Amino acid sequence: MSLLTLENVHSYYGHIHALKGVSFEVNAGEIVTLIGSNGAGKSTILRTISGMMHPRIGRISYDGQDISKLEAHEIVSLGMIHVPEGRGIFPTLTVRENLEMGAFTIRNRNLIEERMDYGFSLFPRLKERIGQYGGTLSGGEQQMLAIARGLMMEPRLLMLDEPSMGLAPILVELIFDIIQQLNAKGTTILLVEQNALMALSIAHRGYILQTGEITTSDTAANLKNNKEVQKAYLGVA
Ligand code: ATP
Repeated sequence: MSLLTLENVHSYYGHIHALKGVSFEVNAGEIVTLIGSNGAGKSTILRTISGMMHPRIGRISYDGQDISKLEAHEIVSLGMIHVPEGRGIFPTLTVRENLEMGAFTIRNRNLIEERMDYGFSLFPRLKERIGQYGGTLSGGEQQMLAIARGLMMEPRLLMLDEPSMGLAPILVELIFDIIQQLNAKGTTILLVEQNALMALSIAHRGYILQTGEITTSDTAANLKNNKEVQKAYLGVA
């Protein structure tokens, strides 16, 4: 069943036509990846879904409801969380305070502690750093914090923008392993990645985006074996 559907979505930055009729869907329970070069529009898609910007034309629906005109906080309350590129953590707040900010609509203190503990069970390193300022964490720890903060709202759909960016290979493995664990527990994942090989190794399906348009859509296994995709995105000569 389709959880999220984009139909002919056009988004602009002023006069810049960044998304030119994007259509795709994410089914409940899937990991779907969006792959494309720098500037293809991957981040713009996530921003448009999460209400940070609105499509000028087209429709976005979630669970059958048109969400194209909703504001970002309304999208969050529907269970969609966007972990942005660059992580967006608060550098002058501690790890604990960053996590609390992720649960800003929740009043129940026990629930907040419970979800924080869940984040710490995935990323024990964060618990060791609980009183440390976000800005002093390593890149990998900041990425862990950004994901753990996103999980404070128990999202049904988690949208991750370049979670592997700037991380050492061992941390990339860890982050991708956690994404798979979250998916196994029932969270639907929309994953934007430049590390196409890693993304396709955990995703069920993928879409290739070029200059604001989806050019290819297939299962992750087929995309991995697609000669054009290999040449353009997987570094295979
Ligand atoms: P990257 O991996 O480099 O972030 P991307 O595929 O996520 O690439 P977007 O960031 O979505 O690409 O950018 C899509 C297009 O929109 C690009 O042409 C980019 O220059 C333009 N763009 C992105 N953000 C803005 C902005 N704030 N103002 C103007 N143009 C923008």
